[in-house]
Amino acid sequence: MATYNKDQIKKLLELDKKHYLHPTSSLRQHQESGPKRIFTDGKGIYLTDVNGVRYIDALASLWNVNVGHGRKELGEAAREQMGKLAYSSSFNNLSHESVIQLSEKLASLTPGDLNVFFYTSGGSESNDTAFKLVRHYWKLKGHPEKKKIIGLERAYHGITIGATSATGIQQFQNMTTSQAPDFLHAAAHKTNCELGDKNDPDFTRSIRGIIENEGPEKIAAVIVEPIQGAGGVIIPPNGYLEAVRELCDQYGILMIADEVICGFGRTGKMFGVDHWNVIPDVMCMAKGITSGYIPLGAVAITERLRDSLAEVSDDVLFHGFTYSGHPAACAVALKNIEIIEKENLPAHASKMEKELKKGFEYLTENHTLVTKSRAKGLIGAFELFEDREKGIPFKPEKMAAQKLVEECLSRGLIVRAVTFGGTNIIALSPPLIINKEEIEKVIS
Ligand code: PLP
Repeated sequence: MATYNKDQIKKLLELDKKHYLHPTSSLRQHQESGPKRIFTDGKGIYLTDVNGVRYIDALASLWNVNVGHGRKELGEAAREQMGKLAYSSSFNNLSHESVIQLSEKLASLTPGDLNVFFYTSGGSESNDTAFKLVRHYWKLKGHPEKKKIIGLERAYHGITIGATSATGIQQFQNMTTSQAPDFLHAAAHKTNCELGDKNDPDFTRSIRGIIENEGPEKIAAVIVEPIQGAGGVIIPPNGYLEAVRELCDQYGILMIADEVICGFGRTGKMFGVDHWNVIPDVMCMAKGITSGYIPLGAVAITERLRDSLAEVSDDVLFHGFTYSGHPAACAVALKNIEIIEKENLPAHASKMEKELKKGFEYLTENHTLVTKSRAKGLIGAFELFEDREKGIPFKPEKMAAQKLVEECLSRGLIVRAVTFGGTNIIALSPPLIINKEEIEKVIS
């Protein structure tokens, strides 16, 4: 492990403060105090900083380091591929071996006939690609007016203009003064409304209500996360995703599943939709596809969709990133998926869900502020209330969740705060290799 002396650390802190604009971070805090930690090493569920202090990475960094840190095989896979063929483009129907192998592998994992893959460098690009593909599809089918996308409130779909426009978290939209048109937001998880209950006071805010109001001939697709992650780990009630699928079928609207967090074992199955046996028309992936070792995203479409695109258009698909199907990223993804399968990580995550829930119960019994815990596989959360018996939330200015997250960090534990209004959520999403003893350590 690398060691750093005081001068080296001081220099790194100064340079970070001077030259690095951090993503999704408080700029004021950064300019006042510099970066909070500088990490140098990772192994299993642990990260180590420049001072040699170890932290449990109970968020798998950004919900993505599914196989844990420090897997030498993944570096080896990248090195081997780069030594052979570091880069070649896939534009104009050129190809290479690792992208072909990865596509075959993904096809064996994705449900139904989601057997055709487009590659990106991350989740936002995957979602933007999905929006463009579904609109293109409808246009080619003779329905150019069918272009609105319905997302859910509290959904997170990323940070490009399209993905932010689909995102239903106000803080992200506040910053973007250039919202894309034709994105609508529905209240999340209103199963009865989606099944047709017009007496529900929320009906007009439901997906069905919006479709009926706007007219299905204007709607291209509905996008849902199987479990909402960054919005606060919100697990849909059973029957919800099935109701959305049925609704989309009824009105001739495409269903996009954003599996960027849920995919690759996070929820205890390979994909989030697998819990509810729902097969979307388009499935977006990133994060766990390489466990964060190298940037990669993918968009799965059904063979039906691809065939319709090909049938009605002999045109070039004018959509492609320089790094679509990057050879080294594909090689790392293949090795990462091999590890996930060999170590049976979805099943392990499902087993560990019980331990995480036990831990949350312990916290609820022993701390009067803790309530509303939930988990599916190894994604979980609990909430903080000033007075949980009376249902009184903390005032936003108390910054309860942020304070707890800072306190955890100072004690060597990384978790995430999700706050909005008076809601204070602490989210956890550790590497899928975490064991019972390590979960107990996180909880204690
Ligand atoms: N979709 C979901 C569900 C996500 O959680 C994220 C990122 O957290 C994204 C999309 C965006 O992915 P990326 O940050 O790789 O662009």
